Amino acid sequence: MDYDVLILGGGIIGCAVAYELSKYSLNIALIEKDYDIADDVALINSAVVYDGVECDDTLMAKLEMMGNEMFDELSSKINVPFKRQGSLIIAEDEKSEDMINKMYERALERGIKNITLLQSNEVYELEPNLSVKVSKALYSKNTGVICPYDLAIAYGEIAFDNGVNFRLEEEVVDIQKITKGFRVITNKNKFTCKMVINTTPGQNYSIDTSEKIYKEKRNLSFFLLEKDCKVNYNNIVFTIKDSEETVRIIPTVQGNIILALNTEKPVGYEYTLKNFNNLMGEIDENKINAFYQWPHYKDTIIIDESLIDKGYIKVVGKHYGQVTMTPSIAKMVCETIVSNINCVLKKDFVGKRREVYKFSQLSNEERNQIIKMNKKYANIVCICKNITEGEIVDAIRRPLGARTVEGIKRRTGVTFGSCKGSECFSKIVSILARETNKKPTDIVNDSKNSNILKSRIKEFQYE
Ligand SMILES: Cc1cc2nc3c(=O)[nH]c(=O)nc-3n(C[C@H](O)[C@H](O)[C@H](O)COP(=O)(O)OP(=O)(O)OC[C@H]3O[C@@H](n4cnc5c(N)ncnc54)[C@H](O)[C@@H]3O)c2cc1C
Repeated sequence: MDYDVLILGGGIIGCAVAYELSKYSLNIALIEKDYDIADDVALINSAVVYDGVECDDTLMAKLEMMGNEMFDELSSKINVPFKRQGSLIIAEDEKSEDMINKMYERALERGIKNITLLQSNEVYELEPNLSVKVSKALYSKNTGVICPYDLAIAYGEIAFDNGVNFRLEEEVVDIQKITKGFRVITNKNKFTCKMVINTTPGQNYSIDTSEKIYKEKRNLSFFLLEKDCKVNYNNIVFTIKDSEETVRIIPTVQGNIILALNTEKPVGYEYTLKNFNNLMGEIDENKINAFYQWPHYKDTIIIDESLIDKGYIKVVGKHYGQVTMTPSIAKMVCETIVSNINCVLKKDFVGKRREVYKFSQLSNEERNQIIKMNKKYANIVCICKNITEGEIVDAIRRPLGARTVEGIKRRTGVTFGSCKGSECFSKIVSILARETNKKPTDIVNDSKNSNILKSRIKEFQYE
């Protein structure tokens, strides 16, 4: 057999499973079709860590609760910033008040602690900047915020350091059952393995029986506000309505604010802005750093173990709280694998991510020390965010290093400043080309054929 376990898909779930399994004496590979892991994890700098209060589905609420409880220990173990941030689910009228009361009763039945029902005056005390009419709110101290792609990359880096073989730019084409395991066929290779964990959403291979399920797909429109924007919130704020549109205000781990509008049909920038102006008072548009739009999924996540006797597990479905559920899903999958395969815990497992120097967060003394070691930390590439050449080179050279501009963005935060990369983008392309020994014209933004430079100007032919 080539491997004991093959993990298909390098999203947050695949990387988390790789991290959990890398604690054991197993020969593991992860196959990802893109140039980088976590490429499909939303490019927002903070995801909400839910606590199961908001969730209609009891099973999904359980996965959220289990995941939520694991975040304090996990984040400090693997060196990813995580912040407990209270949340308010706000009712604006009698009908939504009724919904909140039911939600509260349901949360108590689920055994969720640290939640309270607040009257409007208590809500305004917690959030004096709210300009919406509040009739009642459900307050939770359990929720939190974490950067989803940072979490996925940390999982991946630790798994890599502990021997997981990451096969990037390789697409799974089929999975076939053979006598004592599986044959996984990719566009480049054929591998045999004892067990397969399939986390590629929506893919059905010869072995699969389940259908692709994307039941409920809504639309999220996001504003990312600059740090110096006057809007200030202490808690994550959700509105709850009987109507089809809800909003959320998320203070991020990095200290700025994300505003998200959830609608049934896609809406544009103007519509989103109008909605938030009504809720929070006039927003200074110069302080809107970015406007993103993404689908919002609400499937039931299924850990399909129906073929576990044959050695196959599939994680099916997409859910808005999947980041929250990731630690619990990974742990459950890992427990099933470990009880079905002969392995022991490794004695030499290294559970911490290698140190990253964030120049902007260092004191002047620390900056001087690091510059003495490496002059590249004295060269500021991203002037908006104070990010140095040293950090970019480290993002490329570290375990599972970045091979795309998007990969560098996710690892360092370059181009997320107010100039959105107009100052530093070409410098990043040059550094990436130099470090990977490629021509600048071969550098891609993220996926295949997303080359940034068409050709060298000198190569144009003048007629
Ligand atoms: C805008 C947005 C906001 C969100 N906010 C939150 C939040 O606040 N809180 C929260 O808990 N969750 C949140 N989520 C949910 C969460 O980010 C996603 O559901 C999660 O990242 C999905 O991870 P995954 O690993 O299951 O799937 P994916 O990230 O889709 O990973 C699957 C991987 O498989 C690879 N792949 C596919 N086919 C193949 C193949 N044939 N061969 C090899 N590789 C293949 C893909 O390239 C991909 O990398 C949000 C999601 C979005 C989009």
